[in-house]
Amino acid sequence: MEITNSPSESLGARMKNQCEHRKPNGASCRAHARTGDRFCFFHSPETAQARRQARKAGGIERSRKASVLPADTPHKSLCNSTEVCELLAEAINEVRCGKLDPKVANSMGYLAGILLHGLEQGPVEERLARLEASLGLAAKTSRLQSELGMQ
Ligand SMILES: [Zn+2]
Repeated sequence: MEITNSPSESLGARMKNQCEHRKPNGASCRAHARTGDRFCFFHSPETAQARRQARKAGGIERSRKASVLPADTPHKSLCNSTEVCELLAEAINEVRCGKLDPKVANSMGYLAGILLHGLEQGPVEERLARLEASLGLAAKTSRLQSELGMQ
């Protein structure tokens, strides 16, 4: 399809059943006009109400709040893997019942994974430190750790 700015374009556009709307830059809308209309769905005065309703519906969908607990909900301690797993089990059941937004649950799952990893690391590091202290090998162990890529 050829774009022209000649005065005959309007007639030509109508013959091709093209929307007659002009964009702010003067270019014509390339969409097909609705049947029995000079404009497309987006530019026809007849579809203005339908467009408003569609926008409103989109706005409601976008602004729908994630299903989360109230801000003053007491914090879970999550100090060990059992507590983390309890929370995850709870979240899984809440997602199943539609009480928790899957997006929130996904975020919880991701963070819980990091937390569990951290909880595993902590005791290992503590045991290593105790071993070092009891053997008086702090300096040597530190070198060994870096050789093993543990630091
Ligand atoms: Zn149009």
